[in-house]
Amino acid sequence: MEEKKQKTHGEQRREALLYRPKHGYDRLSAREETEMQAYCEDYKMFLDAGKTERGCVAEAVRLAEARGFRPFTRGMTVAPGDKLYRVNRGKSVVLAVVGTAPLSTGAVIGAAHIDAPRLDLKPSPLYEDAELAFLKTHYYGGIRKYQWVATPLALQGIVVRKDGSTVQISIGGGPDDPVFTIDDLLPHLATDQNKKSLSEAIPGENLNLLTGSRPFPDDEGSDRVKLAVLELLHEKYGIVEEDFLSAELTAVPSYPACDVGLDRSMIGAYGQDDRACAYACLAALLSLEGPERTAVCMLADKEEIGSEGVSGMKSAAFDTFMSDLCDTQRVALKACYERSICLSCDVAAAYDPNFAEVYEKRNCARMNYGVSLCKYTGARGKAGASDASAELVGYVRRVLDQAGVIWQMTELGKVDQGGGGTVAAYMAERDIDTLDAGVPVLSMHAPFETTSKLDCYMTYLGVRALYQTAQPLPPV
Ligand code: MN
Ligand code: MN
Repeated sequence: MEEKKQKTHGEQRREALLYRPKHGYDRLSAREETEMQAYCEDYKMFLDAGKTERGCVAEAVRLAEARGFRPFTRGMTVAPGDKLYRVNRGKSVVLAVVGTAPLSTGAVIGAAHIDAPRLDLKPSPLYEDAELAFLKTHYYGGIRKYQWVATPLALQGIVVRKDGSTVQISIGGGPDDPVFTIDDLLPHLATDQNKKSLSEAIPGENLNLLTGSRPFPDDEGSDRVKLAVLELLHEKYGIVEEDFLSAELTAVPSYPACDVGLDRSMIGAYGQDDRACAYACLAALLSLEGPERTAVCMLADKEEIGSEGVSGMKSAAFDTFMSDLCDTQRVALKACYERSICLSCDVAAAYDPNFAEVYEKRNCARMNYGVSLCKYTGARGKAGASDASAELVGYVRRVLDQAGVIWQMTELGKVDQGGGGTVAAYMAERDIDTLDAGVPVLSMHAPFETTSKLDCYMTYLGVRALYQTAQPLPPV
């Protein structure tokens, strides 16, 4: 008879004492794998439908209405289980499922942003040079300019015409659409440019969209190519050059989301910061039926430029929504806030072995290790971070473990290498306990960002677990 091999004392103590995270794929069940694949197909469709904040809002409302959500207006009677949403100026949206417990016991908030780095058109963008027509852009958010040249771009947004009417513009997204592009310099003539730093090689004023090359026929005047472009825009959208002054038009990558890798384990697409998390929060909220605590999903605009403005996370629009909701139960907003928790859902920097020198291997996010929790963001000495409490981290950790969610605890990169922030600080300022959580991303802020399917799915499961749990919230 063979003797069963006993674990040595050292092996037993190792198991009991050491923290050794396991690879996500070594923990994923077959059922979870099937659900993960279906989830990621839906997520890719969301990415293609929403390449701007306006696009994301429209798609979120479409999905929510299909699940029985209705617009929440002030003074409306609200009951537990009700599914509500409110759009803020077409650029941000907040959705809620009313809990069975009163709002005085707090709400569970998932907050993500739906704006992404891109190239906005300048107010007076169209010009002609050397018989080529261009649109001048002003970049939005933290882009690395050299990544935006020689790549196909679509033009999306709205124009408000002189008479006050609004026209939607979307060129470059459809399979037969023409696209736009920004020229780069040929290597044969790049001797001087090659000596410049990455940040200086492509100046912001060079980010001009190539828009046309065919002159207006039978005409002796100047700028015939520009005139021909304006004629096409007028035919299709009824706009004239002056209408650019009251427009929000933006150039975004034209290609759709796709799988990355022979094993198809990753997703490549524009705008995954932060739509990977926005979709996770949205899908988690849409899946709820009668949670105990009121669940709220906030999809904010303007995070990439500091959460400013009327549609950003600093705007009182969120407080107005929450206050209106509290009024239906005669609960003071401040009493709700101080008992609430928020998961600030934003992407993390995935460890990239090609740039190993900027990461701190023991504390950075890794692809396929699940949703990344981040106690603090910020720069240098945690400047700008809200720094979640150990109590909140402990609570979230317990809830995720009980729900079988694969998660990891992370920082951005090496302490002195740089830094970043999220909407977490603005939620914490409202007296809401807030923790950062999200999907690790490779090539963050590039026109083509990469995530792992497992991490996207685990972020969804993580937010859902927090929305659903009946575990009492940590004491304030
Ligand atoms: Mn982000
Ligand atoms: Mn970002």
